[in-house]
Amino acid sequence: MADVWRFFSHEDDYPDLNEDELCQRLGHALSIPTVDGPTHDGTDWAAFDELEEFFRRAYPYVFETAEVEKVDHSLMLTLHGSDQTLRPAMFMGHMDVVPVVAGTEGDWTHDPFGGYVDGEYVWGRGALDMTDQVVGVLEAVEYALRHGWEFRRTLLVCLGQDEETLQSGARAMGRLLERRGVRLEFLLDEGDYDVVDASVYGAPGCHCMPVGLAEKGYADVVLTVRSAGGHSSNPFGGTSLARLAKAIDRVASDAWPVELIDVDRTMLQTLAPHITQEPLASLTAGGRAAIDANADAIARVFAATPALYPLVTTTVAPTMIEGSSQQSNVMPQDMSATINFRILPGTTMDDIEARVHELVDDLGVEVLLDRSVSNGPSHTSRSDGVGFALLESVASRYFCDPQTAEPLPLVPSLESGATDASMYEGVCDACLRFSPFVADADEIERGVHGTNERITRRSYLQGIRFLIRLVQEALL
Ligand SMILES: [Zn+2]
Repeated sequence: MADVWRFFSHEDDYPDLNEDELCQRLGHALSIPTVDGPTHDGTDWAAFDELEEFFRRAYPYVFETAEVEKVDHSLMLTLHGSDQTLRPAMFMGHMDVVPVVAGTEGDWTHDPFGGYVDGEYVWGRGALDMTDQVVGVLEAVEYALRHGWEFRRTLLVCLGQDEETLQSGARAMGRLLERRGVRLEFLLDEGDYDVVDASVYGAPGCHCMPVGLAEKGYADVVLTVRSAGGHSSNPFGGTSLARLAKAIDRVASDAWPVELIDVDRTMLQTLAPHITQEPLASLTAGGRAAIDANADAIARVFAATPALYPLVTTTVAPTMIEGSSQQSNVMPQDMSATINFRILPGTTMDDIEARVHELVDDLGVEVLLDRSVSNGPSHTSRSDGVGFALLESVASRYFCDPQTAEPLPLVPSLESGATDASMYEGVCDACLRFSPFVADADEIERGVHGTNERITRRSYLQGIRFLIRLVQEALL
């Protein structure tokens, strides 16, 4: 049963919002299959054109007021503010959605591209990731303009075309802004769609909302072993499988440094007043000074906790192996294995590549870091600026603990996936990944990139209230 709305407050703000019309427009956007192709040429760009046409019809104030630029199939809207001394804000997102996994179409209760709206949910691929937030941004800006609100701060709305695959749209828009010398005050991108139970941090009873300040890097390293194979009755010198296994074992059991990085420390600093369980309670009592002084001990606690260990180290996961012999009495010839790294900020792709060479070169194993699918960790955004304070201020109005009536804390966090936000690092030191469109954990688990993706009408409306308020506080 859905109950994330127990954290909602001020659902009576902006009473002239028409819930049915809002949900129907979201449904319409979800019915347009802006699915990523595996490649640029393999993508059906007509669907993206159709979505843009729909946006132009549905949000006339936005498209009449904004300077509209197409960057390939991505959209960059600029709404000029009157005060040039204020740095612009950006609301960003991606218009593409992942495909429905072949063979699972029949598992959906409603057509993933049917735009179905019932009394409780809006259904469809993208309902959480992240057509809801994209359309919600347009709704909020349209609402502001329709009410005659005048922006002092310039707003950019940047909507990428391929976040789930190549990220070429956001990359191009980021570079364009760099060339123009733009500096953003902050940007808002999607986050985890989540209200998080902080028990795992030793704060049972505390719920919080993550704001992603940094992303781990991603690297696939392919190990290849070559040999002539032959009959298994004479394996003199070992088989390629044995050598590959040894190489995999060395790489997988090599321990990367364990470190409480800055974003971990800021997260704990925010949670410290709520942490009641040992050993973290003693280690964090006293706030940031205590956290800094006890950083190594805290990092060791994280490293020994399954849910927390990715936050303090680079992780190494062997995932694929190829080239095995098809017969037990025949030795394999060329074999390869793929090892997936998630890189902690502070470590680079070059560090990974060099270390793997060190570990396996003496085994005669070839090492290839596949740079076409890999990227280094992001920068770490600031949480002490205008942008984070604005999110805190607006969230404190809309997301509260039902027991204490206290606002849910916004907690700086490290994301494990790569989003488009990092493409704007050259123009922004406060890339904030936060979703005011929230769902229950099981909905996120099942729906995001899965089956029966949907958002409750109540969550959608609350997200729009959040964004309208953010427009008021950040731009007017
Ligand atoms: Zn997404």
